[in-house]
Amino acid sequence: MTPQQALQKYFGYSNFRHQQETIIQHVLNKQDVMALMPTGGGKSLCYQLPAILLNGLTIVISPLIALMKDQVDSLNVNGIPAAFLNSAQTPEEQRQLVEKLKNSQVKLLYLAPERLFGTENKLVPFLKTLNVVQIAIDEAHCISQWGHDFRPEYLMLAQLKNEFPNVPVIALTATADKLTQKDILEKLNLHKPAVFVSSFNRHNITYRVVPKKNCFKQLIAFLNERPDESGIIYCLSRKSTESLAEDLKNEGFAAEAYHAGMSNEAKAKNQEAFLRDDVKIIVATIAFGMGINKSNVRYVVHVDLPKNIEGYYQETGRAGRDGLASEALLLYSPGDAGKLQHFARIEGNEEQSRIMLNKLNDMVRYCQLQSCRRQYLMNYFDEAFPPNCGSCDVCLTEFKRFDGTLIAQKALSAVSRLNERFGVNYVIDFLRGSKNEKIREEHKQLKTYGVGADISKTDWQRYMRELITMEYLQVTGEGYPVLKLTPQSALILKGIQKVEFIETQTTEEHHTETAPP
Ligand code: ADP
Ligand code: ZN
Repeated sequence: MTPQQALQKYFGYSNFRHQQETIIQHVLNKQDVMALMPTGGGKSLCYQLPAILLNGLTIVISPLIALMKDQVDSLNVNGIPAAFLNSAQTPEEQRQLVEKLKNSQVKLLYLAPERLFGTENKLVPFLKTLNVVQIAIDEAHCISQWGHDFRPEYLMLAQLKNEFPNVPVIALTATADKLTQKDILEKLNLHKPAVFVSSFNRHNITYRVVPKKNCFKQLIAFLNERPDESGIIYCLSRKSTESLAEDLKNEGFAAEAYHAGMSNEAKAKNQEAFLRDDVKIIVATIAFGMGINKSNVRYVVHVDLPKNIEGYYQETGRAGRDGLASEALLLYSPGDAGKLQHFARIEGNEEQSRIMLNKLNDMVRYCQLQSCRRQYLMNYFDEAFPPNCGSCDVCLTEFKRFDGTLIAQKALSAVSRLNERFGVNYVIDFLRGSKNEKIREEHKQLKTYGVGADISKTDWQRYMRELITMEYLQVTGEGYPVLKLTPQSALILKGIQKVEFIETQTTEEHHTETAPP
């Protein structure tokens, strides 16, 4: 059977995605591989398909015991004999599994790393008696201290190559930052690994950052626009996941909490309810989501600032696995950044703190961007990307800019006609042709009087502010601030330089609907 045929037969797909086919070919040729693919990119297939085609056992190392069952169940449904071994199984179940393994009745065996190398029930000697043909390491970034999800038990995997020197290892992760990549390769001691990096762009996700003001109110407004859709809301603390879930329930939303401090039963219950769509919203810490394969998550909201871009990108990546338009919304407050800086300083040793702080800074910069957020994200992962994605809030806002040269000319000539001796409110009243007696009679005779009557006072205030920011106007004066021209003003007045303003209407609501798929 060719890989293509197996893809069709066991998974029902007609085409490979990203670099799946090349990756699979490398594994079949017994080469070590590290594959970086975005969440939802289709990493599992890269080892599952070789597992089917190879004559022997594939060991899959996965960090979350809770998720193994789902994966194994869905493989079995597709007619692929898979099993997992964990401490929740009875001795009888384990004995049966050992029997099956001995009889080559299992193609894929899922294990947590501590099962393989931990002190009790060390499995390696037994596995060495079997025909192991592939070792897959899922979520391989867990081996790196620089990654966002370091798991000490993953460090044990450094022994893999000594124990199974001739078995190809495939390391998979959705974390692409260079430091972590290097760490994975070094720690796993891969032999001449072929490294595959797929594009990390998730074109169907719209990225937005809004200033966090009244978080709950903002959240409710967002959720009310998409009442029937599934989403994940990430919070920093366990406590706030619970209180927020409770508050949302009180508002009539089907929401549940999820965090590492909950009992296994409670976690499993909420997760399953979410997968079944009984619960629409999961309010979680970052403990939630790894390996969760729910395709129709329509939005991911961060109500607190994530600690780094890697984590943020992975969490937002849980939206839109089905390829349909989805939203990533982050509520940003500089206060959150300060809090996290504080934690970063006390959490680790000096070098680690420095790295964490740098990563946090990159995260803050992302929130403060005036340019395309997607480009920033892609560049962060060393991927080139054009500067206008058309589907992040910055690009969507820029889309709504308009040529404001004429407005700027009116404003500047008004300032000039008034001999640069009046404050912003007077200039605006003058421009709007106000009948107010405060406007001097001689000014009412000037040609510029009333040329801006079609523009509201609020809009004029905004335009003036922007002209000041762009340094086409300045505010000076002792005591009473007056508007004055600047050296650049002439460029506008002579029509040499154009000015753009952002459109006024509250465009926020439109954005979510006009996001291209
Ligand atoms: P990851 O582990 O990279 O987050 P998964 O392996 O869970 O992603 O795959 C995400 C989804 O994409 C799954 O539903 C999977 O069945 C599907 N998928 C994987 N490869 C293909 C393909 N070649 N064609 C269509 N769907 C695919
Ligand atoms: Zn953009």
